Amino acid sequence: MSEKIYPGFDIGGTKIGIGLISESGKFIAGERIDNVNTKPEDILPRLVTIVKKMIAENNISTDDIPAFGVSTPGPADIPNGIITAPPNNPYWRNVPLLKYLEDNLEIKGYFENDANAAAIAEGYFGAGKGTKDYIYLTMSTGIGAGIVTNGTLVQGTGFYGGEFGHTILHRNGRQCNCGLKGCYEAYCGGRAVADDLRRKLADKTESRIMQIAGSAENIDMKALAQAVRENDPFALEYWDEMIQNNAQAMGSLINIMNPAKLILGTFVWATGDLFLAPLKKYIVNYAWKEMLDQCDIVPSQLRQDIGYYAGSAVALYNTEKNA
Ligand SMILES: [Zn+2]
Repeated sequence: MSEKIYPGFDIGGTKIGIGLISESGKFIAGERIDNVNTKPEDILPRLVTIVKKMIAENNISTDDIPAFGVSTPGPADIPNGIITAPPNNPYWRNVPLLKYLEDNLEIKGYFENDANAAAIAEGYFGAGKGTKDYIYLTMSTGIGAGIVTNGTLVQGTGFYGGEFGHTILHRNGRQCNCGLKGCYEAYCGGRAVADDLRRKLADKTESRIMQIAGSAENIDMKALAQAVRENDPFALEYWDEMIQNNAQAMGSLINIMNPAKLILGTFVWATGDLFLAPLKKYIVNYAWKEMLDQCDIVPSQLRQDIGYYAGSAVALYNTEKNA
C-alpha cells in the first residue's frame, strides 16, 4: 500500500508555498510563488495548476490523496474557508479560497490559521513529535500561538483561540495594531520592535543598529540581534528588556497549559542561544518550577520549511480526526 499524500498551501503575505508531503513527512514536491499585491483571480487558478502538475509529475493517484490543507494568516473565516482581509494585500477581500480549491481539485480541503497550522506541522514532522501537550509560538512579524493539549488543537468557540500575542503585559502600555494597549506582540513582535526601534533611533546615526540596517526603514529584528552580538550597549539593554517581556508572557502560558514543549518559531530559531539562554534565565520568575522542569523550550525544527508542511499537516490532522 502506498503512503497517503497531502497537498498543502501556505498563504503568506509575500509568498505562497505549495507542497506535497506524505503522511510520514516525506517531502515530495514544493514550490513558492510571489504573493505581493496579487489578485485572487490570477493566483487561484495558478495554485490549482501547480498542485495538479505536482501530482501528475510524481505519478500520484488521486485515491492516495485524502485531503489538502490550507494555512492562512488572519483575519479569516476559518470554518467557511474564507480569507477576509489580509493586512498586506488590498485585492484579497472575502476570498472563498477553500471552496475554490475543493471545486477545482475535487479533493476535500481543510482550513486553519497559520499559528495553528504550524503547531500541527511541528507535532507531526518537527519538534513536537511524540508529545501530546505542546505549544508553538510564531515569533515573527506578529506573535500567535498554536496550542495542542492531549493531542487536540485548541480552537475556541469562534476559532480565535491562541491569539496569545494579544495578552496584555503592560496596563495602558504601548498601542497594539489590534486596538488594545500593552499587548505582548506590541513589545515583542517583529513589526512592533522594528517600529519602536525606528522611533528610538530616529536621528541616531551613530547607533550600531542603524549602521547594520543601513537605513531606518531597514531596521528589523535581525539588525537588532546582530548589534547584540557586537555588544552594542543600547541593543544589549533593549534585547534584555525584550527577553524579560517574552519570559513574562511565556511563563504565564506555561502556567496555564503545563506543556511538555514550548516550540518557538522564526526569530528564535534564527537567533538560537542569543534568545534562549537569557529567556531560560528569566522565565523562572514567571512560571512554577515544577512546570518549567516538565517543559522543554526549543526552537522550531521545520524552520523556514514550515510553510511546506503547515498546510499538509492541517489536512492530515483533520483527516485523522474525522476518520
Ligand atoms: Zn494586540
